[in-house]
Amino acid sequence: MDCLFCKMVNREIEPDVVYEDEHVLAFNDINPQAPTHVLIIPKKHIATLNDIREDDLEVVGRLPLVAARVAREAGFAEDGYRVVMNCNEGAGQTVYHIHMHLMGGRRFTWPAG
Ligand code: 5GP
Ligand code: ZN
Repeated sequence: MDCLFCKMVNREIEPDVVYEDEHVLAFNDINPQAPTHVLIIPKKHIATLNDIREDDLEVVGRLPLVAARVAREAGFAEDGYRVVMNCNEGAGQTVYHIHMHLMGGRRFTWPAG
């Protein structure tokens, strides 16, 4: 399957890993939008949020758990951080393997920026 993030899971492309376990991989984004910008993915290929099934809940539920863990380790868990999941083109999804963006180390505004 021609999926960039599956290639990282399989180490056909070497990610800059910040966390890994049996079900989840987290690595630094190549184009960071914050001092810390980590992508947290399930090792299982799921193309979009619309494709999550009941069977996936255990692994998908681990994504925010890993986000909080990485945020704690990076030292901004208490200050605050942002997690984002883009679904489909209208929201700016460019890689069709679900991923949680974890951004921290700066202040964020809402709804944009
Ligand atoms: P999306 O736009 O799908 O929500 O997010 C895709 C993210 O993947 C973007 O933040 C982009 O910078 C990141 N990305 C794209 N290609 C690569 C790559 O080859 N390596 C890494 N580490 N991140 C990538
Ligand atoms: Zn994939």
